[in-house]
Amino acid sequence: MSDLEAYRAKAAAWLESMVPTYGKAARKGLSEADDLALARKYQKAKFDAGYAGINWPTEFGGQGKGHLEKVTFDTEEMKHGFPSFYFGISLGMPIPVLMQFGEDKAWVKERVLKALQGEEIWCQLFSEPAGGSDLAGLRTKAEPDGNGWKINGQKVWTSWAHYSDYGVIVVRTDPNVPKHKGLTYFWVDMKAPGVTVRPIKLVGGDSHVNEVFFDDVKIGDDHRMSPVGGGFAVAIATLMIERYVATDSAGFGPHLDLFVELAKDTELNGKPAIEDGRIRQQIARNYAMRSGLQSITARAMAMMQAGMTPGPEGSLNKLVAVRSRQKLSELAIDLQGSDGFTYDDHASQKEDWTSSWINAPTGRIAGGSDETLLNTIAEKILGLPQDHRPDKGVPFNQIPA
Ligand SMILES: Cc1cc2nc3c(=O)[nH]c(=O)nc-3n(C[C@H](O)[C@H](O)[C@H](O)COP(=O)(O)OP(=O)(O)OC[C@H]3O[C@@H](n4cnc5c(N)ncnc54)[C@H](O)[C@@H]3O)c2cc1C
Repeated sequence: MSDLEAYRAKAAAWLESMVPTYGKAARKGLSEADDLALARKYQKAKFDAGYAGINWPTEFGGQGKGHLEKVTFDTEEMKHGFPSFYFGISLGMPIPVLMQFGEDKAWVKERVLKALQGEEIWCQLFSEPAGGSDLAGLRTKAEPDGNGWKINGQKVWTSWAHYSDYGVIVVRTDPNVPKHKGLTYFWVDMKAPGVTVRPIKLVGGDSHVNEVFFDDVKIGDDHRMSPVGGGFAVAIATLMIERYVATDSAGFGPHLDLFVELAKDTELNGKPAIEDGRIRQQIARNYAMRSGLQSITARAMAMMQAGMTPGPEGSLNKLVAVRSRQKLSELAIDLQGSDGFTYDDHASQKEDWTSSWINAPTGRIAGGSDETLLNTIAEKILGLPQDHRPDKGVPFNQIPA
């Protein structure tokens, strides 16, 4: 058995032992507040067992292991429906970025340890009504204020802002220069006076995204995580990490095995659907595609393990995986006939086809929309010419709104 397989076996056994306390059955019927409380305990248990911050440096409280161990653990963990998603953004992007760019290392270490143990949650305040795919179009501004800054404006689609203690934020500090050059990256205290969080209800029924308003929110210059005007580079570093957090070949929907089970249990023209050639073709197609994505991910992880930076293939993964999840979920609903319309607000998107289908469009937008990813693939992988960019080089305050 290789070292990695031994690691997998040990992690799988530990995860199995957590199922009675934190698995799907233990969470069934819990209110969101109780589920979050359970999630915090699960995160602490992970930390105590050495499975939190697996590939993070030991000086910040991580385990100092490789990306392959991290992916191995995540793959095993995904099988059980533990409540780890509350920390997905927090531990996925803001905390790794804080470790890289936070100046006060003692303060950073304290935050990292609290986040790793589920005590504190961070959110990512990037998107705005005028700055989503085109992040550099954002309008929330920070102006000098005494020794620090004053923030005014609005963010939108901020996942878990309502539970967050802190957030990382990109704001405009100079409207007189071209749009990418006038941005600065800060961290903010989400409980500071002037911060208002308002939930947005998604079509699937949950409200994990929010609008966040900043009214004269005062922050010190020690909250700054980039040079003044150099925020776009740190934002891009954050988004590059994000692409590799999104590495589930099932597109965060149900596993293909569940579709095979459904096809065995459902009748099509008087026979089990699994015997139908078109259904078998879909299973084969999805299996081949998911295996391909897993290979791309494994190669990217091996490159990272070897100290290299993987290319833009992370874009390919999310684009293909979420689109195919949506199509497969649609087919699964069709197969169930009128039973496919049954909808349970609390059903897991990873196990329930209707929930997976109705929530799939958000997956095709969040973390980079399909069209943006297609542009990245066209320009960065296929070497096609850049999109038309009429605002290139134009000072931000001269771009027509
Ligand atoms: C569930 C969910 C969670 C999210 N969580 C967060 C979060 O925690 N933090 C955060 O900061 N943001 C978050 N977002 C926001 C997300 O990053 C943005 O929604 C996304 O970047 C798209 O931006 P937009 O919504 O402004 O759409 P727009 O950029 O306005 O795009 C509208 C449409 O135009 C297309 N389009 C835009 N530009 C181009 C182009 N150049 N070429 C071709 N087509 C184009 C888009 O693909 C899309 O179809 C979340 C979104 C969702 C749905």
